[in-house]
Amino acid sequence: MAETETQEVTLDEIVALCRRRGFIFPASEIYGGFANTYDYGHYGVLLKNNVKAEWWRSMLQERDDIVAIDSAIIQHPRVWEASGHLEGFTDPLVQCLGKCKRRWREDDLREAQQTGELKCPECGGDLTEPRRFNLMFETHMGPVPDDAAKAYLRPETAQGIFINFKNVLQFARKAPPFGIAQIGKSFRNEITPGSFIFRTREFEQMEMEFFVPPGEAPGWHRRWIEERMRWYVDLGLRPDRLRLREHGPEELSHYSEATSDIEYLFPIGWSELEGIANRGEFDLNQHARFSGEKLEYFDQEKGEAYVPHVVEPAAGVDRSLLAFMVDAYDTEEVEGRTRTLLRLHPRMAPVKVAVLPLVSKAGMPERARVVYEELRSRIPAEYDEGGSIGRRYRRQDEIGTPWGVTVDGQTMEDDTVTLRDRDSLEQVRVAIDGLGDELAARLERPWSSPKPG
Ligand code: ATP
Repeated sequence: MAETETQEVTLDEIVALCRRRGFIFPASEIYGGFANTYDYGHYGVLLKNNVKAEWWRSMLQERDDIVAIDSAIIQHPRVWEASGHLEGFTDPLVQCLGKCKRRWREDDLREAQQTGELKCPECGGDLTEPRRFNLMFETHMGPVPDDAAKAYLRPETAQGIFINFKNVLQFARKAPPFGIAQIGKSFRNEITPGSFIFRTREFEQMEMEFFVPPGEAPGWHRRWIEERMRWYVDLGLRPDRLRLREHGPEELSHYSEATSDIEYLFPIGWSELEGIANRGEFDLNQHARFSGEKLEYFDQEKGEAYVPHVVEPAAGVDRSLLAFMVDAYDTEEVEGRTRTLLRLHPRMAPVKVAVLPLVSKAGMPERARVVYEELRSRIPAEYDEGGSIGRRYRRQDEIGTPWGVTVDGQTMEDDTVTLRDRDSLEQVRVAIDGLGDELAARLERPWSSPKPG
């Protein structure tokens, strides 16, 4: 985390907007909330769906060397023995011996305090010796909760891909280099969840395992770093708020030959958005050893079998969503009033167009409703007739709706409407006939960010 650089938007402002506009709420709120968990409301769901859809689009639609999978959350417990998670998926936990008794991750404290004996950041108290704490959630399958029935909630989606390597190879008619992609929930009993949805114990991941001939892994690692960086920039994140950080040897995970993190300048400072690892042949070898199945690719041309190496881009859905929101958040003065808006890429915006009657009379609501019903069959649209037009636009600005259509007195005479642009506030008059085509064309057009700073 850099100390000098920070975002101008605070996490509190994002949390407040999420709550005000129904993107994200604290979970179990009527019971007083529960351990930093969150529920997504209507616009949160739409935005999250868009993050996932854009990821799928880049993985599946825009190329033909990746296939999809959706594996179970609870797998055979041996999966986690083989993967090394049972043994190695731990964080060093220390507890304050002073007044506050709080628990911390020792590695976080070491990063923040750099030198000398570590002290509790809350009350300055001494700390216990670090204890390895396994992050996997345990549960039991079946009616008797004994050790034989112990199972785990997956801490990553990747293992569900490795254990299906053979199935996919049989049915997908692919040869290395090829990938298997998955989006799904993961669970980690994090010691220090926090910073809103940045770190929670239940979250969604978007992971892709790319299987390549051994010698090609370093090259593909570099290519995937570039691809994934471009994905964020193409969808509107400012390049100067993204950076790449290579893991040093002491930081590498047990499976990794090389890892680079894409970091984003969150309000809490530079932090990981996505990790791109060269996992070598570790996972396939481990699962072959533990399961007794051969997990290899037979190269017909060379007449030999080999264990492919794996390059893995692993991103968080919730963390990406947070980055898109932070990057899009803006306030500006317009005619003496402060306007808050999300300058989301139109493809990310939960609603693409709002249809608003200027006033709730003179046939305008009925006319606007017809326009809305025509548009919604082509793009995500919303109809709103409640409150003053100014208030309705402010609401749409805050949920990031890129375009607004107003049905007014002139519409009733000549079948045209005003089309308002969220970012420039420019309004143009458009015939209702051509509205759907105009919006579809705008959605396809390359978009560049008019964001400040
Ligand atoms: P961190 O160092 O932040 O704990 P990690 O390096 O353990 O993350 P990975 O195992 O590489 O994370 O997971 C890939 C991605 O999944 C991360 O880049 C992040 O976007 C997301 N992710 C991981 N843990 C969490 C979490 N507890 N809450 C939300 N997202 C997470």
